[in-house]
Amino acid sequence: MTDEYDVAVVGAGPAGAAAALAARRAGARVLLLDRADFPRDKACGDGVAAHALDVLARLGVTGAVDGYAPLPRIRLVGPGGGAVARALPRPAYTVPREVFDARLVAAAVAAGAELRRHTVRRVEARDGRVVLDGDLAARAVVGADGAGSVVRRALGEPANPDRHLALAIRGYAPARPGPPEQLIVTSRPRWPAYAWSFPIGDGRANVGYGEVLRGEPLTRAHLLDRLAALLPGTDPAVVTALRAHHLPLSTHRPVSGRGRLVLAGDALSLINPFTGEGIFYALLSGALAGAAAAGDPAHAAGRYAAALRRRLGTHLRHSSVAAWLARRRWVVDGAVRAARRDDRVFGTVVELGLGDGRLDARTLAMIGIGLAARDRPPRD
Ligand SMILES: Cc1cc2nc3c(=O)[nH]c(=O)nc-3n(C[C@H](O)[C@H](O)[C@H](O)COP(=O)(O)OP(=O)(O)OC[C@H]3O[C@@H](n4cnc5c(N)ncnc54)[C@H](O)[C@@H]3O)c2cc1C
Repeated sequence: MTDEYDVAVVGAGPAGAAAALAARRAGARVLLLDRADFPRDKACGDGVAAHALDVLARLGVTGAVDGYAPLPRIRLVGPGGGAVARALPRPAYTVPREVFDARLVAAAVAAGAELRRHTVRRVEARDGRVVLDGDLAARAVVGADGAGSVVRRALGEPANPDRHLALAIRGYAPARPGPPEQLIVTSRPRWPAYAWSFPIGDGRANVGYGEVLRGEPLTRAHLLDRLAALLPGTDPAVVTALRAHHLPLSTHRPVSGRGRLVLAGDALSLINPFTGEGIFYALLSGALAGAAAAGDPAHAAGRYAAALRRRLGTHLRHSSVAAWLARRRWVVDGAVRAARRDDRVFGTVVELGLGDGRLDARTLAMIGIGLAARDRPPRD
């Protein structure tokens, strides 16, 4: 055995960097492993919600979005074509992951984590520690290795099944004219599905399209056709850096850990089923996982499960119920109409989609009124 650490973190995306930061704050000797060198790209909409910045601030990280213009508004187009455009309660940012993730990794290294380029293939729990690839040992391990997690497989947990797994493609295109806003255009065909355009502030926008998988393979040509259909004026021929990736949705999550092994971020299927947002969850779960691994390595999984339940349990239950309701696209049209009329409904929908919000009786009632307000629900 060459090296022994208090905590080893597999994957240095937002979940892994947050885990390393939290474990360092608890005084642990931390190894942060990634198969890539940083900076590295990651297929993503690059949308960073204010909630993500709150978690970073608690970890002592400032400046993650420096140099990028705040996005004060969001426009959501429902599957029936109705739209709501309002100011976000707090601005969002679009920061290319090549920049954002490298900043977080630099913060983890500055806090004392040891960063090493290494692809983890084997994870074994033995003799009161976890051994990676035969010669890296730690008292506890955080699996923050994304949607195809090796650590999750080592826990015996399969990948998310269809209907709880989405596929999305993203690229960079000239930004649309007009004031900067996050644009989300949901799709009537292939529901649930949507396209987005998130301006970066340098003349470009991150554009993309994704849909939930339903047992049939999706081709790149199909994803690009849908992108062009939902974002008229975006010619796929001028979109650069096109890249697709899976999104394991939070409606189907594996066990969050066992013994000295815990999972965070996409490895734990923590992606919001409405918005595809996962950076906030990755940072939050990573921070909780790193703290649990450093604080009580032998019982990291139990401690982490309790912390996750306290912090996100209610929200995840509410977002699963909301996702179930939203399978009927006319419910989403009702929500768009209600959010257009009522700022509190809008705020609740935003909190549910970008943060850790809950559904409440008033919002449900307002959506009900929104449903009745116009057309009868079309038949599927
Ligand atoms: C097209 C698309 C658009 C999205 N848009 C948004 C958005 O706008 N806003 C938002 O909040 N979320 C968005 N998401 C979700 C978001 O990208 C993820 O939720 C987020 O990246 C999760 O962070 P993570 O740290 O868990 O995983 P990742 O960011 O995937 O990081 C995992 C890291 O682990 C490393 N790794 C993997 N396997 C190994 C291994 N065996 N050994 C060592 N290292 C390994 C990888 O190199 C990677 O660096 C989007 C996702 C997609 C696919």
